[in-house]
Amino acid sequence: QAPEYIRSISPYIPGKPISELAREMGLREQDIVKLASNENPLGASPKALEAAQRAISEIHRYPDGNGFELRAALVKKFGVAPEQIVLGNGSNDLLNLCAAAYLNHETSAVFSQHAFAVYPLAVKSAGAHGIEVPAREFGHDLPAMLAAIRPDTRIVFIANPNNPTGNFLPAVEIEAFLDAAPDDVLVVLDEAYNEYLEPEQRYDSVAWLEKYPNLVITRTFSKIYGLGGLRVGYGLARAELADLLNRVREPFNVNNVALAAAAAALGDEAFVARSYAVNRDGMAQIIAGLKALGLEYIPSSGNFLTFRVGDAATINRKLLEQGVIVRPIASYQMPEWLRVTIGLPAENERFLGALAKALGRA
Ligand code: PMP
Repeated sequence: QAPEYIRSISPYIPGKPISELAREMGLREQDIVKLASNENPLGASPKALEAAQRAISEIHRYPDGNGFELRAALVKKFGVAPEQIVLGNGSNDLLNLCAAAYLNHETSAVFSQHAFAVYPLAVKSAGAHGIEVPAREFGHDLPAMLAAIRPDTRIVFIANPNNPTGNFLPAVEIEAFLDAAPDDVLVVLDEAYNEYLEPEQRYDSVAWLEKYPNLVITRTFSKIYGLGGLRVGYGLARAELADLLNRVREPFNVNNVALAAAAAALGDEAFVARSYAVNRDGMAQIIAGLKALGLEYIPSSGNFLTFRVGDAATINRKLLEQGVIVRPIASYQMPEWLRVTIGLPAENERFLGALAKALGRA
């Protein structure tokens, strides 16, 4: 029998695919708007699609376990050494690698209330104790997280911006945390939504690697790069730390189609700029709509927005009936809230119209 700490894990519940929902709701697939998984509404970069198509002819071969081409593209972009990079099957994989390398049943890890659901999952899977620190205005309370570190703590997870709340932590606060955190505690800075930060919010976390040997930055191709289905992410750290993570990594954890597409996506800066602009404008559109409906929302630095509707389960069902899929976040201890991913203008309009109807305002 599996140990109790495994049986006590509450499983991550992914959203249903569009095809299944269409069937359930008696709707046509093309009439469904999915704004539930923080995907890029523009799809993937055409350059990434082309590269993926070329790589398809090689799927009988094992991928390059070292990810030479993608690694070289990351080296060029960030000015780090190849040894400082760890490639993952999504950035989720990197969170698990950190847990595998640093945690066991004699240790603990710290994360925030309302933080990304995979942190407690990764911690529990490793048999370690999870310490959840109460949030401050739905965001990370870094001084409280620092105070929560115990002698047996080996990892602190920080999401910036956080999902599902979208909160942003200014660089000075993270630096103060890194300065004060014990050297033997790994700080995982999860920057899955980093590319959506506004110009005045941006900060150079990669430069921090020189100063903090216990820091790992995780990023992903799932969000602004539009490659969620291919599962590619990467970690940046000092070479000694990256080496540890690579030791527990599956040798062929990133497939060859994903490797090729990600390398091409990294080079398509025009697509990233377009995606950023679509998100910025869509965010303004949705905020204006929510304000008009008099709904409370949490200002977000990501590609999604979390808003309060009261009886979220009922409103969610009424949205589904109209073919609009958003994300209920009751499992994040936010039963009155829903999270919507920013879509294309017409999708945002559909969402706002359906929401007004669901609330009985249309
Ligand atoms: N971190 C955060 C904060 C996320 O929201 C997500 C995706 N939901 C991930 C990590 C993992 O994404 P992926 O594995 O697709 O890179």
